[in-house]
Amino acid sequence: MGLLDGKVALITGGSRGIGAEIVRKYAKEGADVVFTYRSSAEKAIALQKEIEGMGVRAEAIQSDAADFSQAEALVKQVLDNFGKIDILINNAGITKDTLMLRMGEEQWDQVIEVNLKSVFNLTKHALRPMLKNRGGSIINMSSVVGVFGNAGQANYAASKAGIIGFTKSIAKEVGSRNIRCNAIAPGFIETEMTEVLDEKTKENFLSNIPMKKLGTGEDVANACVFLGSDMGAYVSGQVLSVCGALNT
Ligand code: NAP
Repeated sequence: MGLLDGKVALITGGSRGIGAEIVRKYAKEGADVVFTYRSSAEKAIALQKEIEGMGVRAEAIQSDAADFSQAEALVKQVLDNFGKIDILINNAGITKDTLMLRMGEEQWDQVIEVNLKSVFNLTKHALRPMLKNRGGSIINMSSVVGVFGNAGQANYAASKAGIIGFTKSIAKEVGSRNIRCNAIAPGFIETEMTEVLDEKTKENFLSNIPMKKLGTGEDVANACVFLGSDMGAYVSGQVLSVCGALNT
């Protein structure tokens, strides 16, 4: 028996990195999984096949999380094909790092739209079916950078801090309707997003992590299982750091 048996989960940005590990872990725990991607079609289709082999239903859908009407169409498609949404994981995210003096309007807008507006887009459309279903769990992927900032990431840090305020507000708005909303703040997790950082930056990060190791996508996925499942039934409005004690 899995911790997520009978649940339907919608996960944005599931084709690679942390999102792909959440998709795998959710399927292993018995959830039917719909996940989105923007451009990695091959990886998404391969992952869909892998998940179908695990005995649950899976569907990969190309959908830009930053686009309000695409988010609306996505939620409709999930409801048509799966009947409900028990868990929404707003995981899609990008970085466009540069110092403030060099940051252009486009780098600001793109990061805010993909990382923050996407969370509004998906929550807005998934909330009504959750209300109808008399329950749900929303998990938003923030970052430790949203808690304490980071030079060269003002756009990213602002988007991730915005997610925390949004999460707490939604938890207060819909708590009485049995809908929970939490954020996860990963520290330094090894994925393609962090692969681009130079060795010196990585070493610097590592020296500041009390547990002296980087995190994995699976570490974050495990936290998503807790918050998405009934194990987290009385946990809402919280920011759970998965960071090897970096945020301590
Ligand atoms: P990643 O390896 O770069 O993967 C990003 C995922 O998001 C991909 O599946 C990508 O799809 C998808 N995506 C990007 N823009 C999208 C859009 N507009 N619409 C739909 N999907 C989109 O990143 P990651 O490291 O796994 O990060 C996942 C989340 O964790 C992000 O929100 C990130 O900010 C957060 N986070 C990561 C770390 C870390 O150390 N890695 C730390 C803290 C927080 P395509 O494959 O199609 O491009």
